Amino acid sequence: MGDYRKMWQDLGLDMESHDQLLEVLPPTYHDVYLTQENRPQVMEYFDFVVNEIHGLRIEELQQHKSAGGKVIGTFCVFVPEEIIRAAGGICIGLCSGIEIGAGEAEKVLPRNICPLIKSFMGFKLAKVCPYFESSDMVVGETTCDGKKKAFEILNDYVPVHVMETPHMKKDQDRKLWEEEVKDFARHIEGFTGNSISAVSLAQSVRESNDKRRALKRLSELRKRDPVVISGKDCLLIEQIAMYDDVARFTSKVNELCDELEKRLESGVGIFPAGTPRVIVTGTPMAIPNWKVPHIIESSGAVMVAEEMCTGMRYFENEVSEQGTDIDSIINNVAERYLGTNCAVFTPNTGRMERLTELVKEYRADGVIHCALSFCNPYAVEANRVEQVLRQQGIPLLKIETGYDQEDAGQLKTRVEAFVEMIKE
Ligand code: SF4
Ligand code: SF4
Repeated sequence: MGDYRKMWQDLGLDMESHDQLLEVLPPTYHDVYLTQENRPQVMEYFDFVVNEIHGLRIEELQQHKSAGGKVIGTFCVFVPEEIIRAAGGICIGLCSGIEIGAGEAEKVLPRNICPLIKSFMGFKLAKVCPYFESSDMVVGETTCDGKKKAFEILNDYVPVHVMETPHMKKDQDRKLWEEEVKDFARHIEGFTGNSISAVSLAQSVRESNDKRRALKRLSELRKRDPVVISGKDCLLIEQIAMYDDVARFTSKVNELCDELEKRLESGVGIFPAGTPRVIVTGTPMAIPNWKVPHIIESSGAVMVAEEMCTGMRYFENEVSEQGTDIDSIINNVAERYLGTNCAVFTPNTGRMERLTELVKEYRADGVIHCALSFCNPYAVEANRVEQVLRQQGIPLLKIETGYDQEDAGQLKTRVEAFVEMIKE
């Protein structure tokens, strides 16, 4: 990585804490990613993006801001990125996948709150995230109670716009959500000073759909045995999708798929044929939360799909490209996002149906349900997942864990036992 110290100082980062963060990431990345054998060559691009995570991309954001553009941070795949880009903004998914600034966060939050919320508050209060410090505004949502209330506090430190996300999918919820998306579009227009036209919105819908199609193409390639790419690499790509430049990212994912298709033709896999295949579901795994995937893939199994927001839910549904007037395009956007099977919905039968379909489509031998500690929506919904999978005879392992490594040994023992069981 180049020398970006002046840029970080100008952004107001706490240089000492930031240095500590940068010391932690490279060795972890090396152990989790760079020790994998026979990785596709195009993964070099994604390695480069991670290596430059606080460098080049931040520089791009500063250039965008210098030219009068806005950077808008988000925390949830419910926030329509198309709207932000249609108004000339850059949408950045803020990560929150590492325990940092917990002491600062606990000054304003209770101790026992999910690590994701504690992480984003810690990032902001400890001033260690150049993406956060580049964000002119943050968009929150009312998905879960913890986040909803935390956004009130976050608003003391950065302007926050909160979208009211419905918790059911009835007609009145659809109407509410459509109105929220329209209100969001107006808010973004006011904030950026740029109006959103049917043309600019249709264009950003196409770009996001292209990104989704590229990720879907990658996902389809994972159905084959032997698998041509590790689940850890796919998760990394899904995490990078949240903050990389859309057109560049899409083109690189397609390039990777071209390479993987050649591997398929020659029968080259990254794990031996017959390796036990698992689907991971649950709370999203924000970058750099790779703990459980690393344990799975170093315990003799391969992750073939992620039924999560850092996974299939991010790219499965496309926005309809029918409709040419602004109202119908906005309604298409709203409709697409309401198809997200987040555990905050009640009931959330769509998630159960999709999960069992995925097990068949990806020929999975079992499912690992992973909830973050204190994440009530996913921890409670694990019961429904268990019930549905049991009825269908699909093996399930339920895990609850945080961002620390204290339970890594114990988790590995449990995952290894599960892998042995599904092998039989
Ligand atoms: S799990 Fe729910 S709250 Fe979390 S990113 Fe997904 S949609 Fe948003
Ligand atoms: S849905 Fe779960 S992980 Fe996400 S913010 Fe809420 S409690 Fe935390």
